[in-house]
Amino acid sequence: MSEVKIGKAPEGSEGPGYFLTSLDKIVGMARENSLWPLPFATSCCGIEFMATMASHYDLARFGSERLSFSPRQADVLMVMGTIAKKMGPVLKHVYEQMAEPRWVMAVGACASSGGIFDTYSVLQGIDKVIPVDVYVPGCPPRPEQIIDGILRIQHLATEPLKRRSSEEYRRQLAEHGII
Ligand code: SF4
Repeated sequence: MSEVKIGKAPEGSEGPGYFLTSLDKIVGMARENSLWPLPFATSCCGIEFMATMASHYDLARFGSERLSFSPRQADVLMVMGTIAKKMGPVLKHVYEQMAEPRWVMAVGACASSGGIFDTYSVLQGIDKVIPVDVYVPGCPPRPEQIIDGILRIQHLATEPLKRRSSEEYRRQLAEHGII
């Protein structure tokens, strides 16, 4: 016998009646549940990302299974791995090619702060070249942590205009010389 039980629908979500909402909330909800990540994976943290995409953790449950390898069709830049200083301008170029609204996730210690590679050649955190919205700690972070990062980006995605027009975001773009 099947052990699957059908749960009760939340109150107010079925039966006769109607909902009132606003267009920006509907758009925010759609955007939140269909984020298209661009995986910028350079080393071991990328392997954890592969596990996050695979069947056990299955990022598709959060609407983010459609990866984009074109910055023009992505809204979340996920940076995973060690970023050499020489790659900084490349990363910034990728970010600049993304349309607004866009978000950035630094996955793991290397992307967040250079990690254990406190050397002349490694960028000590991607926030030296682009604004970062969510930092995921760990070396490497577990898939659960990467999923937690996606959930935090989803939370931000419900109100993209609020963030985009904020003084802080504009200050960060100006600081990095991004128009
Ligand atoms: S944070 Fe750790 S696991 Fe991730 S890329 Fe750096 S060294 Fe590798």
